[in-house]
Amino acid sequence: MKKQNRDLDPFHKALKMILSELGKAEEKFPTFPDDLIHAVGIMTEEAGEAMREAIDWEYPKEQNAPAEVLDRLAMETAQTGAMAIRTLVKVLEFWDRQTVSHETRGE
Ligand SMILES: [Mg+2]
Repeated sequence: MKKQNRDLDPFHKALKMILSELGKAEEKFPTFPDDLIHAVGIMTEEAGEAMREAIDWEYPKEQNAPAEVLDRLAMETAQTGAMAIRTLVKVLEFWDRQTVSHETRGE
């Protein structure tokens, strides 16, 4: 974990990590899917990666150093938060463009 984050409380540290991962993701992948299934799919992929690290934490394997597992879990959780923000932005864009309600959408 970066040294400058050590003085922050856990809540603000988490926000800073999420925003950092968001910046990296937007630089690497400037566009984000417009269809919500793919958007949510990217978010859940990151959540799955976080789950893998959580399993490695709860059921330790000899080859995994605990501090490294916890670092990866923090990173994957921050990436999940970043993708949650990107997905939520898409949902809100749909919301703003919505001319029909969800109740009538499938008719
Ligand atoms: Mg990841």
